[in-house]
Amino acid sequence: MVDIEKDIRSKMFEFLYKLVLAHPEGVISSSEINNFFFDGEQIKLIVQTGIRKPVFLGAALTIRTTYTSPNSRPPYEDSMDKSGLIRYKYRGTDPLHADNRALRTAMKSELPLAYFIGIAKGMYQPYFPVYIVGEDVSKLEFMIAIGETQTLSDTANTINIQRKYELHMSKIRLHQSFFRSRVLFAYKNQCTVCKLKLPELLDAAHIIPDSMPDGDPIVPNGLAMCKIHHAAYDRNILGITPDLVIEISKKVLSEIDGPMLKHGIQEMQGKKIHPPTSRASRPDPQRLERKYETFLESA
Ligand SMILES: [Zn+2]
Repeated sequence: MVDIEKDIRSKMFEFLYKLVLAHPEGVISSSEINNFFFDGEQIKLIVQTGIRKPVFLGAALTIRTTYTSPNSRPPYEDSMDKSGLIRYKYRGTDPLHADNRALRTAMKSELPLAYFIGIAKGMYQPYFPVYIVGEDVSKLEFMIAIGETQTLSDTANTINIQRKYELHMSKIRLHQSFFRSRVLFAYKNQCTVCKLKLPELLDAAHIIPDSMPDGDPIVPNGLAMCKIHHAAYDRNILGITPDLVIEISKKVLSEIDGPMLKHGIQEMQGKKIHPPTSRASRPDPQRLERKYETFLESA
């Protein structure tokens, strides 16, 4: 007998895995995610209420966290506990609400789900598999582990797509890729210095490093940059004033070398960076100023 709960999950992960491969930037529209078919029927994977349980299933299939403004920390960050588990709020306050019961069923049966985190309006980054590994009734929350194996039973291991995806997944990657996605999305996938548009060569640079206070993984502390300009910015070869003007260190300006140095670095002197059009996503002038001071000091 085919277990429909496992069958649909295995097909859903396969579908999502293909979508992720087709979108190297990792951000996918809800309409594409919702274009999933099971037994010839379209099954929307993202719904307004957050918790998705098709009527023919006993356990929840997907969960969603909505997009937050560029100035706030990514939603899971505020809700990640010390052990690295994500705290996911109940639907409403009734533990016996149908959606909460559907999550509990997934937990008891150790069935994996897909988790969609909003990056921008209507745009999501999928995480799968995720497991509901506990419940905190007093806080009206479930605990969610992303791509973890230690809590899995053999039944879950039959979903082999998970193994492939686990290679890509860790909590560190979750932090980094989430920041990268939000920043690259805000900068329309181009280097803010040279406008290079190859996602494979783009990074989300921190203005204030994440090891320092104020080094938050939020869009106003980020700049989308190609690998060369990212490295040049981190090493103070390239500076950016709070007015968004690019400065090149004097040492490097006077050097004579090939076309990369000439066109890629030296000719950027005095030009302005290309900030996001959305005001909330623009680089924070105070953070830019602090970083610019370190550029001046090292000159
Ligand atoms: Zn660049």
